[in-house]
Amino acid sequence: MKILLIEDDLDLGNGVRIALTEQGMDVVWVRTLEDATRSLERDNCDLVLLDLGLPDGDGLQLLTKLRRSRTQADGAGLPVLILSARDSVSERLSGLDGGADDYLVKPFVLAELLSRVRALARRSYGFDGETIEVRGLALHAPTRRVSVAGRAVELTASEYALLKMLMMRADRVLTRRLLEEQTLPGSQTNASNSLDVHMANLRRKIGEGYIRTVRGVGYVIDLQAPGGHA
Ligand code: CA
Repeated sequence: MKILLIEDDLDLGNGVRIALTEQGMDVVWVRTLEDATRSLERDNCDLVLLDLGLPDGDGLQLLTKLRRSRTQADGAGLPVLILSARDSVSERLSGLDGGADDYLVKPFVLAELLSRVRALARRSYGFDGETIEVRGLALHAPTRRVSVAGRAVELTASEYALLKMLMMRADRVLTRRLLEEQTLPGSQTNASNSLDVHMANLRRKIGEGYIRTVRGVGYVIDLQAPGGHA
């Protein structure tokens, strides 16, 4: 789980970064809207922690932009948790109306933040930072173990990375380019390392019925089995 932390307060940002990292999450920490925008385009984070009072503008501007975006790469559907000292009801509502998934008022204790992050991740991805499960296909991130209906499956590092990304974003179509860039660095220059090869091997190992090809676009793991029954 990769988290984009947008917070200009050095002490608070550092505390949050350390707490999340200790929970096994990757953290990209930026302190301005400009750097946040760049990170959103580049880092492919799974969840955003957004401070509102930033040196180059209001975090709500970024939230509005995110919620207007249409593609996965633009951050459509990205879960956002606002961290703000603005605690009046109207300010809190404007954050939630703006499309934030949750709102935490400063000062907060780190344990509260961690529990909100886990709850939001579970709601958004069915993932609490440790285990993701989709229709009997389970991935345990701390041990990198994958199983199908309780039967362990051995995956290569590339296959695991592909599967994890698809499972983390279940129900969302991931483009070939995004999958290649994020999970198979250097694949364009090396035919034997191509996405198709890894995808075929992965499907053979976990079985058909999990990864669906969206022709001309990419791949998706549906939360519900085709036909509507989980
Ligand atoms: Ca601030």
